[in-house]
Amino acid sequence: MSTNASLFERAQRVIPGGVNSPVRAFRAVGGTPRFITRAQGAYIWDAEGRRYHDYIGSWGPMILGHGHPDVLEAVQKAAMDGFSFGAPTEREIELAEEILKLVPSAEQVRLVSSGTEAGMSAIRLARGYTGRNKIIKFEGCYHGHADALLVKAGSGLATFGHPTSAGVPAEVVQHTLVLEYNNLAQIEEAFATQGSEIACVMIEPIAGNMNFVRASVPFVQRIRELCDQHGALFVFDEVMSGFRVALGSAQSIYAKALPGFKPDISVFGKVIGGGMPLAAFAASREIMSKLAPLGPVYQAGTLSGNPVATACGLATLKLIQQPGFFDKLSLSTRNLMDGFTLAAREAGVPLVADCEGGMFGFFFAESLPQNYQTVMARGSDTFNRFFHLVLERGVYLAPAMYEAGFVSAAHTEQDIADTVAAAAEAFRLL
Ligand SMILES: *Cc1c(COP(=O)(O)O)cnc(C)c1O
Repeated sequence: MSTNASLFERAQRVIPGGVNSPVRAFRAVGGTPRFITRAQGAYIWDAEGRRYHDYIGSWGPMILGHGHPDVLEAVQKAAMDGFSFGAPTEREIELAEEILKLVPSAEQVRLVSSGTEAGMSAIRLARGYTGRNKIIKFEGCYHGHADALLVKAGSGLATFGHPTSAGVPAEVVQHTLVLEYNNLAQIEEAFATQGSEIACVMIEPIAGNMNFVRASVPFVQRIRELCDQHGALFVFDEVMSGFRVALGSAQSIYAKALPGFKPDISVFGKVIGGGMPLAAFAASREIMSKLAPLGPVYQAGTLSGNPVATACGLATLKLIQQPGFFDKLSLSTRNLMDGFTLAAREAGVPLVADCEGGMFGFFFAESLPQNYQTVMARGSDTFNRFFHLVLERGVYLAPAMYEAGFVSAAHTEQDIADTVAAAAEAFRLL
């Protein structure tokens, strides 16, 4: 039998770092990544036959848990009819109709294959629509690995960002302004000084790439106003939060607090593919009409709207609309986080947690952070020790303290209770 260690060694010979996406390598937490052989419901099994409670769910897509019979049937049926045609299909229309039904802010949607592609295309569309170059993003938000978005804050507000990756020319990010999340003064100043040049503001409304940090309602409201005043577009990157924090995605939560609120462009991925490579961006008909073949903004994809992926996404979106689905999912997630908080308190470990729908985050801190600086301020030692303690007890959390976690509909009360018991032991050992 292969062990995780022997597979990792073999993988590193032929794949850079042994992985096809960096965070899987366990660099942040140390140790050997688990090589997964199969998954079912709320569990995954590694190459050594060990079972884990899965709180990554492929980084968000597996909201139903693994191997839901209806999804399997849809995928198998679609595969029998053909993998890819490079021509339009009715299923793409059905998936577009389903997405638009759940996201009233948009009138048209285009399907692509990854969140990176969707985010990159949304930026191009915003620039093409407004005829402007500058974009604003926030520190700690991840929007995929397109060049213009791999950028960290510059030294001062007036300066543009620096590339966070080798291979990205400074010229490519010179139009990307990186501001602090939830900082009203900075966004005010940015629009006051260069409002007429800003194509769009892109945000993760509930940021899951710095653990779990919500954009405050006044922050979202003020960005909406500033975009309207200055003719910029507001782009909600809901690749992670979409159909995950609520059936109507994060934007439905902000629309409750701010009646009539809507973003101009929404970006989706993860849940809408149900575990297959599928993502999308959506907006009003007016904005979307700028896209080729109707308009001058070019965007395309050989496998876009792939028939097997759309079958998987469609079956997933149908199932999450069952009555009470999000109530039950939210309750499981809430119980998990309440369980962690209580167990930590009993062990004398400072811990705060937050969650929405099937997405959660917890911090070894006294209060919930509001931006990237405060997320990172605590250092990762405690989290990393906790991560390995629960992993040894069969609980698979995201292997980095700055990543959100996910609960699926397949997680039972018993799963949550077992997980909380494992966490309680870990807190006592910290
Ligand atoms: C995962 C993610 C992306 C990138 O999606 P990929 O499918 O990995 O390219 C973009 N934005 C957010 C908010 C994400 O969580």
